[in-house]
Amino acid sequence: MNGVGEQNPLTYLVDTLTFNEKVDRSLALIENAYHEFGTALVVANSLGKDSVAVWHLTKQVSPVIRGFIVTTRFKPKETKEFMNEQIRTYPELRVYQNDEKIPKELYNTDPDRCCELLKVKPTRRAIKEMGVRCWVTGLRCTEGRTRTDYQEVEERDRGLVKLNPILLWKEREVWQYLALNNVEVNPLYAKGYRSLGCAPCTRITTDDNERAGRWVGTSKCGGECGIHTRPLKA
Ligand code: SF4
Repeated sequence: MNGVGEQNPLTYLVDTLTFNEKVDRSLALIENAYHEFGTALVVANSLGKDSVAVWHLTKQVSPVIRGFIVTTRFKPKETKEFMNEQIRTYPELRVYQNDEKIPKELYNTDPDRCCELLKVKPTRRAIKEMGVRCWVTGLRCTEGRTRTDYQEVEERDRGLVKLNPILLWKEREVWQYLALNNVEVNPLYAKGYRSLGCAPCTRITTDDNERAGRWVGTSKCGGECGIHTRPLKA
C-alpha cells in the first residue's frame, strides 16, 4: 500500500480536504484568477452539474463574470430547455453552435470527427470572439479514467490559462454544494443520468466511472469530446 509520501498529491487532497475546505479553495482559485484576468476570465458552462456548481461559485466572486455554452443539434430537449432558462436568467452567457452540414450519423461512424466539428470548433470560436485569456471549467479528477492528470491551473495552449477550480471535488460533494445552495440542475439528472452529453452518445450508467455512459459501444467510450485534449488556440 502506498504511504502518503508516495501518493499523487492531488489524490491525497481529494481524500483529506473537508467539503468546506474544498469550497474555500475553489473560491480562492477563482478570486485569484479574476484578480489577474478580469473580464478575460470566462466560464465554459456545459450545463452539467459540475458546470452549474462552478458557475454558482464564480457568481459569488463577481456577478459580472461571463460564460459561454457550446451546444449542438443533438442535445436532448431537456438540455435545450434548461439552456434557455439559464440564458434568460444570465444574459452574460453566450451560446455557440456549429450548424454546418455534416455526414448523416457521423456520431456513429466517426464520433471524434463529429465532436471536433460540433464541440471543439465552436469552443475555439468562443475563446477567440470573447477575448478569453483564462477559461474556467468543471473538470474533476475523479470523474473517470481520462481526467486523472489535470492540474487546478494549467496552460495547455500558450496564452490561454485553464482554471479547474473544482478539480478536487468528488461527485457527492458537487451534489452537496448544489443542494446546500439550492442550485437548479438539468432535469435529466432526475432520470438517473450522471454525465450529460448529446442524446445519441449518452446513456445512464451504474459504473463507478461517472463518464462510462458516454459514447458507449465506440472506441471513445468513457472518453472526451476533445475540448480538454485538443488545441483551442490557432
Ligand atoms: S457527443 Fe456525439 S453527437 Fe455530440 S458532437 Fe460528439 S459524437 Fe457528435
